[in-house]
Amino acid sequence: MALPRLFARRFRSARTWIVFGILAPVGMLVVSGIMLLDLRKDAWEKAEQTSQNLLQVIERDIARNIEIIDLSLQGVTDNLKLPAIANLSPELRQLILFDRAISAQDMGVILVLDERGDSILDGHAIPARPTNNFDRDYFQAHKAQGGRGLLISQPLMSRLTGARVMVLSRRVDKPDGSFGGVVLGTLNLSYFTRLFDRIGLGREGAINLYLHDGTRIMRYPSHGGDSGVNVAGAPNFKRFLREGSGRFVGTSSLDAVERHYAFTQVGTLPLILNVALAVEEIEAEWRAKAIVITAIVVALCGLTIGLSLLFGRELERRSAMQAELARQSRTDALTGLPNRRRFEEALTALRGDAGHAARPFALLVIDADHFKHFNDRYGHAVGDDVLRGLAQCLLASIHRPADLVCRVGGEEFAILIPDGDEAEALRIAERVHARVALLAVDSAPIAAGSVTVSIGVATRGAPGADPLTPSDLYSLADAALYEAKANGRNQTRFVERRRGVVDRRQASFRLAGA
Ligand code: GH3
Ligand code: MG
Ligand code: MG
Repeated sequence: MALPRLFARRFRSARTWIVFGILAPVGMLVVSGIMLLDLRKDAWEKAEQTSQNLLQVIERDIARNIEIIDLSLQGVTDNLKLPAIANLSPELRQLILFDRAISAQDMGVILVLDERGDSILDGHAIPARPTNNFDRDYFQAHKAQGGRGLLISQPLMSRLTGARVMVLSRRVDKPDGSFGGVVLGTLNLSYFTRLFDRIGLGREGAINLYLHDGTRIMRYPSHGGDSGVNVAGAPNFKRFLREGSGRFVGTSSLDAVERHYAFTQVGTLPLILNVALAVEEIEAEWRAKAIVITAIVVALCGLTIGLSLLFGRELERRSAMQAELARQSRTDALTGLPNRRRFEEALTALRGDAGHAARPFALLVIDADHFKHFNDRYGHAVGDDVLRGLAQCLLASIHRPADLVCRVGGEEFAILIPDGDEAEALRIAERVHARVALLAVDSAPIAAGSVTVSIGVATRGAPGADPLTPSDLYSLADAALYEAKANGRNQTRFVERRRGVVDRRQASFRLAGA
């Protein structure tokens, strides 16, 4: 079959449209699902990139600031070792010991404490503002052990300025190596607030700075009382400490919000910094898009399914209607029997069937006797009843499914008997006469025995050398019928076609009394 015709037939099939109606939406759903997953991936990549960049910028800023203070502290410890320093005037000594770093905005105080914790030198005052920090952890740590380098304290309240600070300290050794005090510089925690303030992290985003011991130095935005809290036991913190730097999605121990954490060490300092973005906010924009896209796709899918089903059902209805029309065009409305068209088609098909060319078949042509009389006497409606009754008699006379009873004219019927020989045809004719003899019509005083028929039978006995056309066979049967009429009606006449010779015989039976 040509391809275009095959396609045309496929597209007229209701099943094609129903399958299409299911496959197309499934395809749409798959494609939009892939698209949405892609968009979500983009949102995550963007968030990861953003937090990574932020982390880098903040980490560098903090590391640089602490380095500046530490360099000052180192300057002080180095210079204190110079013997000449002790002999200088306080002003000159201050000028040499404390460089300009002390004027940095976020630098709180820079002090030198003696071994008892008393302030002996002050970067901002001559003489040093009196204070004692003997009790501070960093002081005790330096006192207990030398060579600890730079120590970073937990968040503290400065005794001199009253500000929240982080203390950076180094030990001062006496010439003999024994503990000679501490030099310290403070970094105001407001520095972090100012630094983080410039960063937009979303409502649930956060930046945290921790000491290695788990003390939170700073959280932004502050929930109040965050600073100084120890989170050493929290799973997220353990991971920060273990991995040094990286990223993961975890739930905050503080507020149970699920966040994406990007974290890193701050330089070589014992500090851990993280930038945390709420998963909900990372996906918020994507989710809004996803809802709209999903709603549209689902609506389109529903529409496609609905239209395809409607279209499929309409096609089904149409083909059922066409089949019914085709059936009706081959059916006689009065009797419900196949009509002349169907009869001719069957006859032609039988002839075209190669298998049947070698096999016999028989044809009965049946005509009501003096039918006009019923019409004239009882009216056309009664005539119709008689015709319906006759149709029932004929149907009751055949038994094989292949046998076909048709109404071929006004009061003329035919029975086509594939594979039927003379004996079979005559048996059926006999049954027809017997049934018709019992036919009575309720709508008129037509009793059993009133209606009779004449039958012409023709068979193609042995396969003939001549091609036998349907009209040949019909003519033979019609001729036989004519003979039956001429011979007095209510009888059967038989004609067999044998190799071009027509053999006429009166059927061996005649109904008793007819
Ligand atoms: P014969 O024995 O020679 O066949 O005589 P007949 O009267 O049966 O034959 P004729 O051909 O003279 O008349 C047939 C009648 O059948 C004429 C027509 O009005 C009637 N007829 C044809 N079709 C119908 C029909 O559908 N309904 C009714 N009621 N009558 C019909
Ligand atoms: Mg007649
Ligand atoms: Mg007739």
